[in-house]
Amino acid sequence: MTRYVYDFDEPSDGGRDLLGGKGIGLAEMTQLGIPVPAGFTITTDACRAYLASGGEVEGLDEEVAEHIERLEKHTGKRFGDSEDPLLISVRSGAAVSMPGMMDSILNVGLNDDSVAGLTRSTGNEDFARDCYRRLIQMFGETVDEIPHESFSVDDTVDRARAIYERETGRGFPQDAREQLRRAITAVFDSWNSSRAQFYRRTYDIPDDLGTAVNVVQMVFGNKGEGSATGVAFTRDPSTGEQGVYGEYLVNAQGEDVVAGVRTPLPLAELRDRLPEAYDQLIETMAALERHYRDMQDIEFTVEEGKLYLLQTRTAKRTAAAAIKCAVDMTAEGLIERDEAVARIDPSQLDQLLHPRLDERAEFEVAAHGLNASPGAASGKIVLDADAAEERGKGEPVILVRWETSPDDFPGMKQSAGVLTAHGGLTSHAAVVARGMGKPCVAGCEDLDIDTGARTVRIGSHHLREGDVITIDGGTGRVIVGEVPVVPPAINEDFETILEWADDLRRLKVRANADTPDEAAKAREFGAQGIGLCRTEHMFRQEDRLPVVREMILARDEAGRREALDRIAPFQQADFEGIFEAMAGLPVTIRLLDPPLNEFLPEEKDATDERMRRRIRQLHEDNPMLGTRGCRLGIQWPEIYEMQVRAIARAAKAVQERGGEAPLVEIMHPLVGFREELRRLRELTERLMEEEAPELEYLCGTMIELPRAALRAGEIAEVADFFSFGTNDLTQTALGMSRDDAEGKFLTFYLEDGVLERNPFEVLDQDGVGELMRIAVERGRETKPEIKLGICGEHGGEPTSVEFCHRIGLDYVSCSPYRVPLARLAAAQAVLHEANRAEYVQAGG
Ligand code: PEP
Ligand code: MG
Repeated sequence: MTRYVYDFDEPSDGGRDLLGGKGIGLAEMTQLGIPVPAGFTITTDACRAYLASGGEVEGLDEEVAEHIERLEKHTGKRFGDSEDPLLISVRSGAAVSMPGMMDSILNVGLNDDSVAGLTRSTGNEDFARDCYRRLIQMFGETVDEIPHESFSVDDTVDRARAIYERETGRGFPQDAREQLRRAITAVFDSWNSSRAQFYRRTYDIPDDLGTAVNVVQMVFGNKGEGSATGVAFTRDPSTGEQGVYGEYLVNAQGEDVVAGVRTPLPLAELRDRLPEAYDQLIETMAALERHYRDMQDIEFTVEEGKLYLLQTRTAKRTAAAAIKCAVDMTAEGLIERDEAVARIDPSQLDQLLHPRLDERAEFEVAAHGLNASPGAASGKIVLDADAAEERGKGEPVILVRWETSPDDFPGMKQSAGVLTAHGGLTSHAAVVARGMGKPCVAGCEDLDIDTGARTVRIGSHHLREGDVITIDGGTGRVIVGEVPVVPPAINEDFETILEWADDLRRLKVRANADTPDEAAKAREFGAQGIGLCRTEHMFRQEDRLPVVREMILARDEAGRREALDRIAPFQQADFEGIFEAMAGLPVTIRLLDPPLNEFLPEEKDATDERMRRRIRQLHEDNPMLGTRGCRLGIQWPEIYEMQVRAIARAAKAVQERGGEAPLVEIMHPLVGFREELRRLRELTERLMEEEAPELEYLCGTMIELPRAALRAGEIAEVADFFSFGTNDLTQTALGMSRDDAEGKFLTFYLEDGVLERNPFEVLDQDGVGELMRIAVERGRETKPEIKLGICGEHGGEPTSVEFCHRIGLDYVSCSPYRVPLARLAAAQAVLHEANRAEYVQAGG
């Protein structure tokens, strides 16, 4: 028979997957000799069996009863005793950290009789009644689903019990074993609560893991002034600075600190209040960090001067902190460079590339709160999470709350930032915002909210819902109105990690950039060239559009050429700017791609009948599959001729000015047939020969159509390079319109679980990836030296970058801001391949 329960001091083989993060942390701490309350873990196997059977788990009750007996022996107290009862907490703990998403219940085992016993055995009636009131409320909310608002922290035991009876129609259960059984079931059930499901979808956590349940002897931080409870980090989770960092509350129980109902005190103050416990805590934290070789996030309780650790886990941290820790820990000899690179989550790096307030702008700070999560954002005030979820889709909003709870998660996700009046740096709002990389200011005491009147007061300002504010989560400042922001830069530690990543990676990283400014930014972030310069943006600029329209509306080729002659100098100037910004590095320029009707006015705006006719003539029912890409260049070669000439002239001009010839790569879009590229190559070669016979360049194609991927062998005969345009290749391989799918059926597919990931964001490796693999193989067979890259959006998505590494591409190309992320992901691909990226995480 499967065994479902393990004491903390018993070895088990299942590790984190079986015991959950909290359970494995408690077991390891117990085995390391760290002061941890006694208890046991009910495994994730039990939870899965419970969820699968719809309630029954054979043998579980008996096993729990046995372990309760052992706990009674160990503590010398009896569970359900009316004089000196053993009290326990029942805590969730999945293998993957899901902060606040599932339930915990404290003080299980108290009833009307034993509360009097607890008073007598502790001599502290306030304490005993406080414990019982908490049990009734937590049990009521979690087990019987009584709404949180029905209770208040000011309730007495009698009042809490009366509310319980009113809401459930039953008295509060007096039997300790019934309390325990129902509490365990409630924790199992909380795995499938809608907020937990939503969280799992957001972070791609599988639904079938289940949670473990930890049954832990209660220790009390609420036994008076000599008791306390808190959370602490072995380094600062916002900045990564060395030195312990945390918060605590005197005379309180664990949930008070994280729930953000009372604003906690900085941990350093505990030294004066409870010096011995403080010193022991600091020592223990250092030992834990050495043991796990990573930053730890711990929960502790001091009961009448005695320290207990209730949890340790690898600390969630901002990207800046992750980088600083990795670099510092390498210097401290705790980890190697490879591990430092492996530890940074590339998708988190976006945070570092977040905007900050422009300090040169004039603004007045209306209030200060805690700097809970970095970044700056402006938006309209919204006072509840549902409204934030709705309005946040259309415009930036700042969710303003007393505090947030796990139910607010979807609203927080849609907000540009979060501002709370209560709560500390470890409050729900702070932790969740940091995880999402959104700015958050918490514990802003000078904030008052009137949810009835839909108004807020920030400092001396009285505002309504819908008014604009700005928050700076890096410093805790709150400002009325909008403040300009500046883009971020890469600091020294970040640079160090990226250099280590560069030493490891094989893939080159280029950027998609259409303007000299973007090209310069890309270079600053370490791009090794431009993988895609889309020329249509140059056509759309305001001063050029009228000429482009004239070109399209022209009666004949002569008319088109006349208009194109006027566009040519603009094009040349654009290319010169880009070549200069990327001197010494390759630049891939893609010739005009979108359907011409995209440049046309609407029929109703036509000025005459001829124009109206021409607009109608150019109309296509499905322009994405119509006259676009190289089909344009083949039908109206004069357009591409002008572009190739402009490229050649720009390259020559830049070479004459700077001495160095740009590395030009001319790319033809949407090729499906060899003959298309053969003709375009001929055109390209003829014009390059005419304009710049000395210039070396490459001529290649995008692979954006399934046919092109399948016939890559013959296309390679006339191509120097392939660049996978996975935006179009996804669209054409899946038959899903990239403009229409997202927000329509694709959203439904993702919500309903038909698809796990949005294929326009994360490469569909099985389908689109297979086509790429075929193209690589067939292309290289014809031409082993053919250069291969990717320039669709997937080129900046970590798992897709890893795939590109595996199939042997030469480079990935992505937007400038994602270049650092791609550099790191490319290095991690090497580490994964060599199996060098694993490291053991602590806790959950
Ligand atoms: C692509 O299709 O992947 C691509 C990069 O081109 P565009 O997005 O401009 O169609
Ligand atoms: Mg494309």
